[in-house]
Amino acid sequence: MAKKRAGHRGAQVPPPAPPGPAKGSQRPVVFVGIALAALLSIGVWWWLRAPAFAIDVDADRNVLLVTIDTLRADALASYGGRAVTPNLDRLASRGVRFTFAHAHAVVTLPSHASILTGRYPYEHGVRDNTGYRLAQTQATAATRLKAQGFATGAFVGGFPLDRRFGLGVGFDVYDDNLDDSRTPGASAGLSNDERERRADAVVSSALEWIGRQSGKWFVWVHVYDPHMTYDPPGEWKTRFPADPYLGEVSWTDAALGALFDRLSSQPRPTLAIVTSDHGEGLGDHGELTHGVFAYEPVLKVPLIVSEIGARRGSTGTGVTIESPARHVDLLPTILDAAGAPADAALPGASLRASIAGDSADRPSYFEAMTPTLTRGWAPLRGVLVGREKLIDLPIAELYDVGADPAEQRNLFATRTDRAPVLLNVLKTYNVAPPGRPQKETPETLDRLRSLGYIGGGSAAVREAYTDADDPKRLIELEQTMTRAADAFRQGRLDEAIEMYQSVIAKRADTEDAYRKLALAYWRGGRAADAITTLETALRNGVTQSEVRIKLGQYLAQAGQADKAIALLAGEEGDDPDALIALGNAYQLADRPDDAIRTYKRLLEIDPSSGLAYENIGTSQLRAGDVAGAEASLRRAIELDRSLAGAYTALGVVLAGTERRPEAIEAWKSAVAIDPVELNALYNLTINLAAAGRRDEARVYGDRYIAAAPPTMAADVAAIRKATQ
Ligand SMILES: [Zn+2]
Repeated sequence: MAKKRAGHRGAQVPPPAPPGPAKGSQRPVVFVGIALAALLSIGVWWWLRAPAFAIDVDADRNVLLVTIDTLRADALASYGGRAVTPNLDRLASRGVRFTFAHAHAVVTLPSHASILTGRYPYEHGVRDNTGYRLAQTQATAATRLKAQGFATGAFVGGFPLDRRFGLGVGFDVYDDNLDDSRTPGASAGLSNDERERRADAVVSSALEWIGRQSGKWFVWVHVYDPHMTYDPPGEWKTRFPADPYLGEVSWTDAALGALFDRLSSQPRPTLAIVTSDHGEGLGDHGELTHGVFAYEPVLKVPLIVSEIGARRGSTGTGVTIESPARHVDLLPTILDAAGAPADAALPGASLRASIAGDSADRPSYFEAMTPTLTRGWAPLRGVLVGREKLIDLPIAELYDVGADPAEQRNLFATRTDRAPVLLNVLKTYNVAPPGRPQKETPETLDRLRSLGYIGGGSAAVREAYTDADDPKRLIELEQTMTRAADAFRQGRLDEAIEMYQSVIAKRADTEDAYRKLALAYWRGGRAADAITTLETALRNGVTQSEVRIKLGQYLAQAGQADKAIALLAGEEGDDPDALIALGNAYQLADRPDDAIRTYKRLLEIDPSSGLAYENIGTSQLRAGDVAGAEASLRRAIELDRSLAGAYTALGVVLAGTERRPEAIEAWKSAVAIDPVELNALYNLTINLAAAGRRDEARVYGDRYIAAAPPTMAADVAAIRKATQ
């Protein structure tokens, strides 16, 4: 049992220090006689809990923050769920488990920005996964602890937390390399937001870094596995055949077990905080995944605070706290525990007080802005006060989540005494809807107009929303989008196309439906349809920059590089996707110097971008700078071993400089990463055939023929001829 220090944060009640097991032990009974009055003032339930675990203030400790993406609290065994989670359960059994903890946003980037900055989304300014970047002037857990002498490391598992979004500020190391050497090729052909690294790979990277530290450290580990797609590895797939989501959660627990085990033998104790950024709908209220609603399956998060290692060992007894906790409380808790200066400007408060028995209410703001920003649906904002939850939408909702945890009885119309009170609490937060950062500037809109893309004005954020814009009325569209994404992933392109078309027919301002429809056309070899789809989006007033960037990309690849440059040049800013698209357009327009200049700007933003080096290398190759190309391509591969295209281009360099056997190895590496990397398949077939290795050539030739879209008919003919 660790010593408690009284008086911190003005705790009114002297905290008891009951030895041994908490519940049913003798000491608290004696204690009651002494301090009954004090106890009654904060509620007897506190005494019944008799907390055994406490967080000491200790500047000489490590701090571990684990965020498990998309983890529903009620999936964990310690929360009564069916997943197999012995490692997290053990952590909870020796620490604190909060049963009523909440996030402030329902998608990954804004929620993590709140966790790390201790601020609400309207304060840190990140309102969605795309189109935002955390201001590098923001103080975060990393910048604050670094100032206290902590080494700082972040190890993330999913693309929404790529360094481009700005969460790396204050970290000595920000490891967002999503190449998972255990499953090479896993991310080939995936769109950005599907790219992820498995939990065991994230953990081993974190452990490797921790092993090199001698002083105290702050580590943030983010694992993405429970996020869509639910595809748990190995035994976890067979153990949960009907519920792969629970399989993912169980697998993630197993992977984290290795981290907790290793930390238990560290010389310094480690304060461990485990939470999720948001949960998952799994069909509740009609929401299959997350991002639209803010019902409890998504907004409520697990929260476990514990101590691992030397000092605590097995002496702590688990405590369950039912009073509210919020993500904005995590940073103040960390600062408090680490003996770092508190920041009165932060909206949250250290949870040490809650753990010590303070049941003060912590009202909480939350929001869901993605559908507003990408689809023009009504913005969702709300507050939790005690067990009351207000969701402010055109069709407003009020629930007593204590009595009605499934949020089935909307009390907004009947509780006329409470609804105005909660609306007033909501107004104390900044509830103005965000502008659209992805929306084009007036200058860009003029350019789009001059290129013939826009008829009328643009769709601005609206002032008023009606019932028809309430996400409850539109959730069917979200379901269709999710099913279409499934169909797309499984290669049923025609089905996906039909579903995306049906969404656009019902609501013509659905930005993501245009982009995904265009991608489905593109994958199906229908380049003209992909381009027409995005042009239609612009004409319909859907002018988020993502649409324009995608259109530029497709135009360039479809042989209209000059048109692409007209659309993209001068508008790229520091958006990595825009810079890549513009650079590619220059490259395809045979302007390699302009291309290289553009890619180098990407390296200024992200010096470790393997993709930038790959593109510089291919531009150098086009410009005839073979030595420069080889150096750039080798650097690209060194930085990111998942870049199939870099291996393909390196193979071309090698073949052109009398190193054909090495070239063949490079192309084989490319198709090992991406089995349908067509350029590498083509090169392998032609070069193996030319070397007289016809049987081998035929294997790759057959794969080329099976994967090539109809537009590649000429190349298919060449392959057939070479392998005859
Ligand atoms: Zn997430």
